[in-house]
Amino acid sequence: MTKGLRIAVAGGGVFGLASALALARAGAQVSLHDPGPAGANASGVAAGMLAPVSEALTDPTALPHLDLMMAALDLWPDFARTWDLVLDRRGALLLGDEARLATLSLSARHLGIDLPALKADQLPAFPGGYGAAINGALRVQADQRIDAASLGGLAKAAAALGVRFSVAPPPAQDLDWLVVATGPSRDLVAEAPELAALEPIKGHILRYGDLAYDGPVLRGPGAYAAPAAAGLLIGATMETGIADPQVQDDVASSLARASIAIFPGLADRSWTPAAGVRAATPDGLPLVGPGRTPGVILAAGARRNGWLLAPLVGAMVCAYALGQDPGIWADRLSAGRFSA
Ligand SMILES: Cc1cc2nc3c(=O)[nH]c(=O)nc-3n(C[C@H](O)[C@H](O)[C@H](O)COP(=O)(O)OP(=O)(O)OC[C@H]3O[C@@H](n4cnc5c(N)ncnc54)[C@H](O)[C@@H]3O)c2cc1C
Repeated sequence: MTKGLRIAVAGGGVFGLASALALARAGAQVSLHDPGPAGANASGVAAGMLAPVSEALTDPTALPHLDLMMAALDLWPDFARTWDLVLDRRGALLLGDEARLATLSLSARHLGIDLPALKADQLPAFPGGYGAAINGALRVQADQRIDAASLGGLAKAAAALGVRFSVAPPPAQDLDWLVVATGPSRDLVAEAPELAALEPIKGHILRYGDLAYDGPVLRGPGAYAAPAAAGLLIGATMETGIADPQVQDDVASSLARASIAIFPGLADRSWTPAAGVRAATPDGLPLVGPGRTPGVILAAGARRNGWLLAPLVGAMVCAYALGQDPGIWADRLSAGRFSA
């Protein structure tokens, strides 16, 4: 039965690729359609933090979803092993002054999480050291990281499994399912009216290609530093309502300036900016599952956590397509939850 399923996935970001991989592995005939250059999307510019705990502690929108995000993180070791990706399990450090660290520590304890404290002289070596306002850190061992360049590895794995890549639109007929994983795009809103619930949130990130840092993710107030294959990453901004993915020099420069208070060694170093557009629903969780148009499954709206959620979303899309139980998060993520 599965072998006969013909499925087109629209969108070659991490949601589309995770869905295509799960479906192809289950034996479906899968084509993946994306008019854009590979990696020219939010997935390609992301820092790749798989960070349920840090996100819950620093982003009020993510806080109610810690349980779901932890469940998504649990799928990562197997996902990385299956698709030959390198998972960075060195965790994250939440940096700050005494007041910030005390607040974060208390919030963590309310969530039942104990975060060991590090003093300033216990922080990992960082080029140029830390700003005067950084008195120490809390260690978040649960958080992990994947390099966004892994998107290429996922595409390679999909091609090896027989997924056919195309820049043409998905076919209008002879399909069992159309999976709409088009990120913030509304191109397919006629097929998937639920996409109208998505709001764009643009984000800038900076790459310091000549700076080497190889340690845990460092999350300060207003900026984070993450190691990456192509050089140190400093992120990230949130421009709500902006869907244009072009870099805005003033926004990138303000991120560079803000990061110097935490990482003074970045002053006068050169950086290359990138921008991507996240798609967000009102509750911060993606739309995953059948839409109201027969034959359409949605997988879009990951906000800040698309990499973290991708293995869960891919598995759920596959379960829906195969008529299997999508699991315990189906209601929380249902595609129609914002539709009249
Ligand atoms: C600066 C920044 C930092 C981030 N850091 C992190 C992080 O550390 N951890 C984390 O988990 N998440 C992070 N995110 C969020 C994460 O990048 C996104 O949630 C995730 O990449 C969304 O994946 P996606 O596949 O849904 O969408 P996208 O990656 O946007 O992919 C959508 C794809 O759909 C294609 N498309 C558009 N229209 C059509 C069409 N009509 N037909 C076919 N294809 C179409 C586009 O070309 C694109 O390739 C970050 C985002 C940004 C911007």
